[in-house]
Order: sequence, then structure tokens, then C-alpha cells
Amino acid sequence: MTRRSISILGSTGSIGTNTLDVISQTEEADAFEVVALTGSGNIELLAAQARQHRARLAVTADESQYVALRDLLSGTGIEVAAGQTGLLEAASAEADMVMAAIVGTAGLRPTLAAAKRGADIALANKECLVSAGDLFVSAVSQGGGRLLPVDSEHNAIFQVLEENQRHAIERVILTASGGPFRTYTKAQMADVTMETARAHPNWSMGLKISIDSASMFNKALEMIEAKHLFGLSPEQVEVIVHPQSIIHSMVGYADGSVLAQLGAPDMRHAIGYALHYPRRGKLPVERLDFAKLSRLDFEAPDETRFPALRLAKLAMKRGGVQGAVLNAAKEMALEAFIAGETSFLSMAEVTEAVMEDLAHLPAATTMEDVFAADLEARHRAKARLS
Ligand code: NAD
Ligand code: MG
Repeated sequence: MTRRSISILGSTGSIGTNTLDVISQTEEADAFEVVALTGSGNIELLAAQARQHRARLAVTADESQYVALRDLLSGTGIEVAAGQTGLLEAASAEADMVMAAIVGTAGLRPTLAAAKRGADIALANKECLVSAGDLFVSAVSQGGGRLLPVDSEHNAIFQVLEENQRHAIERVILTASGGPFRTYTKAQMADVTMETARAHPNWSMGLKISIDSASMFNKALEMIEAKHLFGLSPEQVEVIVHPQSIIHSMVGYADGSVLAQLGAPDMRHAIGYALHYPRRGKLPVERLDFAKLSRLDFEAPDETRFPALRLAKLAMKRGGVQGAVLNAAKEMALEAFIAGETSFLSMAEVTEAVMEDLAHLPAATTMEDVFAADLEARHRAKARLS
């Protein structure tokens, strides 16, 4: 394998640390060269990562941490930067591939900067596709880099989607674990706490995506993500609850065949697939033992208990900036839930109300329209939350 240089936006998070783990455990010595790493509050970890992987640049999104990070890395020769300009510098630094693993809309501008300069984008930050949709896809293709999905469902679909059989693709089927409240009634969900919501049954992930999995907003975002990533109509995007998370997703073809990708629930599958693409690397993940698995279960998703799924369909049907509106309103409500300021069920209520408020917004022609819709949705959500 020729040496591949990589920058990781959000290296201190769950996806970021798993990415560095895949790099560390790659058998071919020096297969990867780490260029830039970014984090926000956790500068001790960021500095340790930068030293260990001999990065050229370390960036904290938090400007107030700049001096502390510089002190931690003094004498190493590693360049240090901070804030939005620092993030853009990290995205623009010459690297073959950029792992986009910042959480939320905060990842959009730096990921776009990397896409425009033609880097291959390993995309964990689904919000880029949910908010900016086709504009983001065309930014990547205009830049000339590849768009490699790291979200496990989309990575699975990417692995089994036969590009030369595009005409025969009937549907993609996203699997969903159902999260910690899969069997809860709506009444039981009314007063759940942040601590119970964050406890995902199968996957170990960052705080926000774990809570989004409990509300199924994560699956809602993934439906919109799949639509843009694979150029599908809303009707072609299906969801099935599969509590064991062994089948990571599927593609259904015109001849009735369904191709699935299976594996242990470990993000290093999807991350490693993207890092090594187009070749398959040897990955340090558990091998499936089918004799021990014994069963795989499936259930229809319930849009009454999990209205986020219905909202995703609405956003896809309306198109335009509705994905940006859904995501921004949801991010505000999620932050309020994390802060203990609003209830679990109100996250979908507030999001739906903001989507109704802003149903009239015209489609985006530029990224600035997307940012404006995002901002407007945040204002509306804030007003409804207070
Ligand atoms: P995380 O919270 O563990 O890490 C987020 C990273 O972003 C950290 O490095 C943090 O320092 C940085 N960050 C946070 N706020 C920032 C800001 N305002 N500006 C710049 N940097 C900031 O999150 P995660 O679970 O690793 O998820 C990252 C992204 O990947 C999300 O978009 C998530 O939806 C997606 N994703 C994650 C998983 C998973 O298994 N964790 C799976 C699929 C998709
Ligand atoms: Mg996923």
C-alpha cells in the first residue's frame, strides 16, 4: 500500500480515537501519515495524540485553550492553532484524506474546506449531508475527492451497492438497534433521564449520537443522509429495527435479492474500510461466530413512539433546506435535554414545530442559504425551548 496522509477533524472524540486506533494497529508500518488533528476542550488528549502520531498540526476549536495547548506541545515542533481559522487550517493542510468526525453542524465548514481542495472525505459527520445535502455532494465531486461513508449503515450500503447495477436498485434498508427505549411506551419515555438515554445497548459512541439513538433522531438523520449519499428518492429509504446490530444495512435489487453487510458492532469496521479503500485492510475487530449468534430479530419501526422517523420522511418529501432545519432544531433541543432543561419527548415536538414554522423557506442555491436556514431554525427552537 502506498503511504496515505490523513487529517482527523475531531480526533479526540469516539470516532476520532477509533480512527487513531485503526491507524496504530495497522500491520504495514507507516501505511498512514498523520498530518493534522483537531479537538475542542480535551487538550491533554489532543496533545498526547499529536505527540504519539507525530502530527504536523494540532488545533483546538476552543480559542481560550490555545496557550495551554501551545505549552503542552512546546519543543515538539508541532504547530498549534485554535478557533474557526485553526479548524480551516487543519482541513486545508495537505493530506490525501480527511476524516470528518466533528459532531454536529460545527463540522460543516471545515469539512467543506477539505472537500473543495480535493481531499478524499471519510465522512462520519452525517450532519454535512443532512444539512447541506446535494450541495455538499457536489462540493466533494467538484473538488475531485472521493466521498467515503463512515456511518456504519451507509458504509455497509456502500460495500454492497453494485454501482454497475444502479438501474436495478429498488431500496436501501437501514438497520436500527431501536436504542435503549425500544420496548418503552410513550408514557414511559416521558420522564426518562439523560443517563438512561445515553446508555446504548450495542454501540459505544459520543454523548449526542447516543441520545439521538434513543430518540431515533439518529436514524432520522441517517435516512436523509442515505438519500443524498446514494441519490435515492424518499420512498427508496427504509428502516428496520434489528436489535442485535449485526446486519449493518442492506440494499434490495429489482430481482428480489437483498445484499447485506454483517459484522460485530464496532465502528472500526467502517472506519477501517474507509481508511484502506479501495483495498480491504486487516482490521482488529471481533470475528462473527454464527453458531453463537443463534438468532437475528427484526421489527417494524414505530413512528408513533419515535416521531423523528416521520419527521425525516417529511423533510425528505419537502426537500430544500428542511434537512438543515430539522437538524438545527434537533441540535438545540438535544442540548437543552442534555442540560436538563427540557424533556426527552419535547425534542421531537420542538423540532416538528420549527419545521412547520419554516416550511416556507425556499431551497438553497448556495451554502450561505443553508447556514441562514440553520441559524433561523436555531432562533426558533430557542424561543420554543425557553
Ligand atoms: P464525540 O462527541 O465523541 O466527538 C466529537 C469531536 O468533535 C471531538 O473531537 C470534539 O472535541 C469535537 N468537537 C465538539 N464540538 C466541536 C465544535 N463546536 N467545533 C469543533 N470541534 C468540536 O462524537 P462522535 O460520537 O465521535 O461523533 C462524531 C460524528 O460522527 C458525529 O457527527 C456523529 O453523528 C458521527 N458518527 C459517530 C458514530 C460513533 O460511533 N461515535 C457513528 C456514526 C456516526
Ligand atoms: Mg449510524
